[in-house]
This record gives sequence, C-alpha cells and structure tokens, in this order.
Amino acid sequence: MSVFDARVRDGLARTGMLRVGDEEIKTPAAVDILRLFPSLLDRPFTNLPLSAPKSDADKYYVAGKDPVSFHPLADCPAESGDVVMVPGWRSVLGDARRYAEYLSPLFAGTPPDVARYAPACALPSNAAMLIATGFDLFDYTAVDLASVQKKFCMTEGEFDASYMDKGVCGCEGCRTGNLALHNRLALDREIAVVKTWIESGQIRDLIEQRCRLHAEQVGLLRHLDRSPVTSAALPAVRSSRFMANSAESMTRPEIAFFEDRVVNRFVPSRNDVCVLLPCAARKPYSLSKTHQKFQRVIEGRAHEVIVTSPLGVVPRELELLYPAGHYDVPVTGYWDREESAILVEYVAAYLAKHRYERVICHLEGGAKAVATAAAEKAGVVLEHTCNDDRPSSPDSLRALNNALHDCRKRRSDSIRGTLAWQFGELVDTKGWITKGRYPEQKIFDKKQQIFSIDSSTGLLRPTMEGWQFISGYRVTISDGFVPQGDILAPGIFDCDPNIREGDEVYVTGSGYLATGKAAMSADEMLRSSRGVAVRVRKTKKM
Ligand SMILES: [Zn+2]
Repeated sequence: MSVFDARVRDGLARTGMLRVGDEEIKTPAAVDILRLFPSLLDRPFTNLPLSAPKSDADKYYVAGKDPVSFHPLADCPAESGDVVMVPGWRSVLGDARRYAEYLSPLFAGTPPDVARYAPACALPSNAAMLIATGFDLFDYTAVDLASVQKKFCMTEGEFDASYMDKGVCGCEGCRTGNLALHNRLALDREIAVVKTWIESGQIRDLIEQRCRLHAEQVGLLRHLDRSPVTSAALPAVRSSRFMANSAESMTRPEIAFFEDRVVNRFVPSRNDVCVLLPCAARKPYSLSKTHQKFQRVIEGRAHEVIVTSPLGVVPRELELLYPAGHYDVPVTGYWDREESAILVEYVAAYLAKHRYERVICHLEGGAKAVATAAAEKAGVVLEHTCNDDRPSSPDSLRALNNALHDCRKRRSDSIRGTLAWQFGELVDTKGWITKGRYPEQKIFDKKQQIFSIDSSTGLLRPTMEGWQFISGYRVTISDGFVPQGDILAPGIFDCDPNIREGDEVYVTGSGYLATGKAAMSADEMLRSSRGVAVRVRKTKKM
C-alpha cells in the first residue's frame, strides 16, 4: 500500500513524500522499483503503447494497483495518494510535440495528488525536464542500460565510458572505476539539484539552462510555453528572482499572465496623461537613481508606465509585483527583432485598452522603437520628450517638465491598482492611509489596519477587516469541519475558481473565519483529498 503527499510546488514540478509500507521516500526520487513494487513482476505484457488506438485501449488496458497504469485513451481508476505509472513515456522523450500533448490527458485523467512514475526514462541529462513536467518517481533502468552500453552519463549528455578517466567527476564510482555506480550516482545527484531549485521556486531558471544541449528539450519547452497545462499550474506570484537570460525567457507563461492582468484587470489611476519611462536594473524601479530623477520632474502630473523587456508594460502602481520587481536581464543596449515583436504586442494591447488623452514617450533606443510601433498599432499619437537618447539628461528632463507644465498633480494609487490586478475588483480607497517605509507598508481605514504589503511578492495581504472590501477569493469549508491550524484539502467544500497557489484567500465556515495563503490552485483544492490547501495566518472562531 503506497500513499503520496505533494509538498512544495513550482509550476508542474513538486517535491513530496511517498510512503510505501514502512518506507518513506522523499520525491522526486529514483528508486529500486521492483523492490518497492514487486507486484510489477506479475504484470507482464500489460503495457500498452501510448499511441495505441481507443479500440486497443478498450481491449487491452489493465489498470493494476500499486502502481496504477495510465493510458491516454483509457479511464484511469487512480485515487488521491496513488502512484500512477505511465508505461511507454520513454517513447515520447525524443518527440516534443507528443510529449507536450500527452501531458493534458495525464493531468486531466488522474487526481492532482498522485505520484507520477515514468518507467525506464530518467537520465542525468533529462531528469530536470521530467521533473519540471510533473513526474515524481523514476527507476534506474535507463542509467543501467547506459552502463551496459558503456556510456558515461552526465547532465550534459551520454558520453563514451573513457570520460571516466578524464577527471570530470570525483564520485565513488569514478574513484573505483565502477561505471554503473557513477551513472546511478549521477542521476541521484541531478535529482537532488532539481529538488533545491523547486524549493527556491526557480525550476524554470534551471530548465532554461539544462535544455540547451538537447534540441528535443528546447522544442519541448517551446511547446509547453503554449500549453494550457503549463499556464494552469502557474502560481499567482513568486518571491524568487526571475532570470531572463535566454530567448525562452521571453515566452515564459508568467509574463503573459502578468500582462493579461495589466490589460484586463488593472485600471490606471488617471487617463488624462501618461508618460512611458525606461526600466532600471534596480527593483523596485522607484528606488533607482534614474527613476527618482524622473519622479522629481513628473511630480505626480502624469500616470507613469514603464516599458521594459521581457515584460512589456509595468504601470508604476504594480512595480512591486512578481515578476516586475524580480527580473534580471542582460543589458546589451539593443533589443533583437523577435524580442521587440513580442513587446510591441504587449504595449499595443495596453495602449488600446487604456485610452489616455496624451501619451508622452520618454524613451530611447529599443524601448522607443517598440513604443512607436505599438502606438501606431493602437492608433495613438506619441509626444516625444527624449531627443538625445539619454532619458535622464538635463535636456530630456527639461523637455519632460515642459510637456507637463499645465497638468494636474494627482496621487498615484498603487493600492487600488494592486487590488485590481490581484483580485480583479475596483475598490474605493478614499480616506485610506498608508504608513511605513516603502515597500514595507501597512494600509489603514481610519484607525483600522486593512492590508499590509508582502514586499517579497508585491501582493496585498488583507486583514479580517480588509476582506470586507473584497468579494472574491473565498474558500468555503465543509459544515462540521473545524480546522486546527492550516486548512487541508479534504475539508474544502467550495472555492473561487480564480485561486492560484500563492493567492491571498479568505476562509469561511460555520462559526469559523480565517485569512491565509493558498498552497494549491482551486482545481487542486477541489480534486485533491490530501495535503495543505491554505496556510492560515489568522483565525477567528465565533
Ligand atoms: Zn562519477
């Protein structure tokens, strides 16, 4: 009998704990699978190829138990906590399109809280990608096969056994001339590395690096960036860095997710005049020297909007939010054509949705070219105030000041802007007071604290009183269920379908209220029978 619990999530990847009898295995992990599940020996000739048609699936699919077999065209009886084996996954390792396609039925056809086992697949060169695409459990078959074939396995690939004498590895296997031991240890080591990147919320940064020497993995990454399976698993925000160092960084679903809310949820503080500004290496931008110069000139006389790669558009109100406050990008002074084409779409969508009376372009170089093309696309006329390609030069700042001479001063309302982005609701913030040193701030309505800023993610944390201003992001617990500490998935009766991991949520039940942070998505909360769903910050029993 085996039971699996997912712990830390990072997109589709997660760490977890698998219990089989008395044994506890921290996942992801490679295991001696026949020792763990000896019943596999009694199931010969039951594996259907993934590509088998429905008529074959109907006839030959055998689900089995511990682990339960999966086939894309058969009804899988797996329940929460089971181990689900995907026979034949090895056949899609070299076929990025089918790999990405088969993930949809796998996630839709099994509960989210099963451990996914990919037999005979894992090598040090593909383990990171397998884990990043939701697999938790592996065996040593592929590395043992490589050993028989006299291949030396590294994260970079499989090489001739003579590599062992080149001094590239100092493991016990290499020290004793034991190729099979080296290959197994290399797999264990890579899985341990991946685990640490999941725990820091940066598996994507690792994947963009690991895929580079394998065309099929780069192809898979590109397919996954267009897949609803990937975007469905995104957290609302993260607190980790965002290293935008490769071409694939531009197509991270996090960016499209952020910009979609900037266009469709966010509403600017004003619509008379907007200034497009360049980004700054320092985050949040407003703590940088150049942005302090801009803000001293603008003096609240225009809505400030930053044009940046790889995000596109960051309204000043949202500069703390992930990934706006978290990305690092190599600065070369030019934006390449593909990058610019993506950014034009984001800026044009913003300008088309949020109509201003005037748009001032205080940009140079690639950002100016992007804004110009985007404005044309959106049918907006730009006024240019940076004519010497140096936005913070005295001439440029003077031109910006002159362009704003008859504009009204108005406070930028980052609380209203962030609430709109975070909850999709426009809240009247009149009379609210912000206290504390930016960005560690608390928000009060008269003397009552209603929100605080989580400066690590940029989200607003509502207090019990703060939730009275928000109507969504509710989690309802089942009648008669009185939580002790965190809220577990089986106790949840219903929840707002918009909830993602990392979101602030309000828990309600009979005689019970709590504020907290979602530890899983709405879909997982409703389909899981195990695990922490909400990490509770404060409770109120009535
Ligand atoms: Zn070694």
